[in-house]
Amino acid sequence: TILIHRYVKKSKRWGKAKAILKEFEEKCATPTLKLKQVADAMTVEMHAGLASEGGSKLKMLISFVDNLPTGNEEGLYYSLDLGGTNFRVLRVQLGGKDGVINTEFTEVSIPANLMVGTSNELFDYIAAELAKFVNEENEDFKVPPGRKRELGFTFSFPVMQTSISSGNLIRWTKGFNIDDAVGQDVVAELRSAIERQGLDMHITALVNDTVGTLAGGRHTNKDVIAAVILGTGTNAAYVESAQAIPKWHGDLPKSGEMVINMEWGNFRSSHLPLTEYDYALDAESLNPGEQIFEKIISGMYLGEIVRRVLYKMAEEAWIFGETVPPKLKVPYTLRTPDMSVMHHDSSADLNVVKSKLKDIFEVSDTSLEVRKVVVELCNIVATRGARLSAAGILGILKKIGRDTISGGEGQKSVVAMDGGLYEHYTAYSKCLENTLTELVGEDVSGSISVEHSNDGSGIGAALLAASHSHYLDA
Ligand code: BGC
Ligand code: MG
Repeated sequence: TILIHRYVKKSKRWGKAKAILKEFEEKCATPTLKLKQVADAMTVEMHAGLASEGGSKLKMLISFVDNLPTGNEEGLYYSLDLGGTNFRVLRVQLGGKDGVINTEFTEVSIPANLMVGTSNELFDYIAAELAKFVNEENEDFKVPPGRKRELGFTFSFPVMQTSISSGNLIRWTKGFNIDDAVGQDVVAELRSAIERQGLDMHITALVNDTVGTLAGGRHTNKDVIAAVILGTGTNAAYVESAQAIPKWHGDLPKSGEMVINMEWGNFRSSHLPLTEYDYALDAESLNPGEQIFEKIISGMYLGEIVRRVLYKMAEEAWIFGETVPPKLKVPYTLRTPDMSVMHHDSSADLNVVKSKLKDIFEVSDTSLEVRKVVVELCNIVATRGARLSAAGILGILKKIGRDTISGGEGQKSVVAMDGGLYEHYTAYSKCLENTLTELVGEDVSGSISVEHSNDGSGIGAALLAASHSHYLDA
């Protein structure tokens, strides 16, 4: 009887696990109709954010980039990219019509304590790495004598720009939380740190990574009209008609255009499929109530959502045995790259999932059934994220009238994409692309494409430094 009792208990538990899975799946559903509502809501918010400052959760920030690269940019420029888990420094030789002739770069991870410390600590660390890199300049790969080095600064957080080379930090996202930097001009902060290093360098352009990616993408493909980052965080920038920006009171740019940094990570709508796990994740985050779209589609959070569902299953349905593995309780232990590896496990017995669960949560043994549930969870979370990003892109295409073929035969709209999530999580990027086709329809889908722009933001910042160079006015 004991055996039977155990068996009954086990099947009951298993039923509970299935019920949790099913409910989660239903709450995450993104049928086409819902995605179209999300896209429409995005378009509505875009209008509101352009109409007035603070008019929407979408900040629709003016980038001061009113000219994208032409392909004539020349010279040696530096760029510095800060915004995720790593930061990069690049040296780029631009050769006009010959394009990018040479690049060198270094990538350094940001120590976790600096992400939540003081502004000076962070900027001193960055400036020191920058100085180290500059000092390794090769004789034949440096700015000509008598000319100051110039830098394009990619700073991937919401910034209220006051010019192409200045702007105040609105707030941090993605696990950064440095109070004394909020409201400050990040270029002034970097400039002081550079001076403290005794380095002679001029910060010529301040750009968001989406704006850099748009510039980098446009440099190689004139059909690029928008850029999306899907990495640790997420965001989009696109080319807007200057006349469609009521809140812009400056002179109308000659080009008639202005690049807008949407900060779409902060988008929120009643149409978004949110679950109890998302609400809890948000409430316990560094920035509760903010970046809701980001929290359901970007790399920093996807693994964490899966962990939360697994935790519930472990507690209520004992899927990992009669006690909850202690590691499973720790926020952010399941990183999205590991989630991606499990999701892509194609072996019949899901051995990769098994060993990952062991490495991450220290659960010695899992049944095939449990491993299947884990893969299913990864699929639900990644699918929701990818489909919602596609809806966001549709929102942009609608705003600029490129969601139909009314732009005429042969019109092409290219979205430049970058970020680790997009680059490495194949199931996610495939789903995004398929969903975009599903949303715009087969007829239109031929005129719209998504292209990976590898490190477009670093090159893009160098290009924008070149087109705004100090020496151009001289
Ligand atoms: C930031 C954006 C950035 C995006 C991608 C978001 O958290 O707010 O400024 O573009 O991450 O890096
Ligand atoms: Mg980046």
